[in-house]
Amino acid sequence: MSCRDCTRKGGCVYTTFWLVRFLPVVLVSLATGWGIYAYTYELCILSIDNWPQRIIYLFIFYALLILFYTSYLRTVYTKAWKPPQKYCIEGASKATYESVKDDERQLQLFLSDIARERDLTLLVRGFDHGIRFCDKCCCIKPDRSHHCSMCEQCVLKFDHHCPWVNNCVNFGNYKYFILFLAYGFIFCIWIAATTLPSFIDFWRHEYDMNKKQYDSIDSVIQRNLKHLHTVLSNGRFPLVFLLFLSCMFSLSLSFLFFYHLYLTAKNRTTVESFRAPMIDGKYAKDAFNHGIRANYREIFGSHPLYWFLPVPSSLGDGVEFKKWTMDAALTTHGNRNGPLRYSLLQQRDESEMQHLYSEDEDEEDLNVRIV
Ligand SMILES: [Zn+2]
Ligand SMILES: [Zn+2]
Repeated sequence: MSCRDCTRKGGCVYTTFWLVRFLPVVLVSLATGWGIYAYTYELCILSIDNWPQRIIYLFIFYALLILFYTSYLRTVYTKAWKPPQKYCIEGASKATYESVKDDERQLQLFLSDIARERDLTLLVRGFDHGIRFCDKCCCIKPDRSHHCSMCEQCVLKFDHHCPWVNNCVNFGNYKYFILFLAYGFIFCIWIAATTLPSFIDFWRHEYDMNKKQYDSIDSVIQRNLKHLHTVLSNGRFPLVFLLFLSCMFSLSLSFLFFYHLYLTAKNRTTVESFRAPMIDGKYAKDAFNHGIRANYREIFGSHPLYWFLPVPSSLGDGVEFKKWTMDAALTTHGNRNGPLRYSLLQQRDESEMQHLYSEDEDEEDLNVRIV
């Protein structure tokens, strides 16, 4: 086997790389598994004597666990959505593409013809105002899609490539991703809130038991460190660690969760929040913002029953997106909010453009990662 074969699918380098990329998913699963043991056995069985309290704690814990872990697995295993066939250059048109690909002007003329022939909806343009094209996938990029160098393909409504789910967060799994953040955050808060009283009780009880021993130590810090050592050596390490893990995870998940709630309210992807799409020769940060209700509905669907469940309910096809215009707003909101939202948008456009996007940026592969 040559070195080149190693880097291909099934080769040793490829497999090692794949395993390393999958490591964060294993870590999250191991942490969840250990959390189940610590919460069920160490907290609910060993530390809580009251049966009704035990049952309520366990019921809420497992309900949240199922919602959290199902959302997580769906985010991990939902394959990134690719552009449909009609956006790809194949067959007879491939030969024409080969002949014009080195001449940017000829290439753009060729792509315009293809877009017209196949009736492709293309609102978003490259920063050179041309049709966006991926030469790696050999396809015209649909609106809001980008090439992910980790997944090695163009991805519809690309948000970012997340190492913790070893997948692209995109049109196909964005709802699951938000639910994973939401349930993960609530799950950790629940664990921390229910573990804390038992931990405090245990801390106080042990402290009183060993008071004489601590009184001989002058410094308060030394006294508490000595006490922490006693607590840990008395087999309470799992409870302390469970509290520490749940606080740490709830804090880190909360930043990401509230940030994505904000992005959903604005109908922006993470990429678009850093680099606004170019539409009609302008940087249009709010081009797809149809108002909070409509934006949330686009992700979570029309039926309230499915909003909180990790089942498919997002609206649209990930390829065609309605640009925000006054007509679209009147259709969505009636006369009430449309004209107001339109005038605010118009006023902000010019100033936003000047200070946010003063330099030319090249259209290149995007690989935004949130760690
Ligand atoms: Zn691509
Ligand atoms: Zn990716």
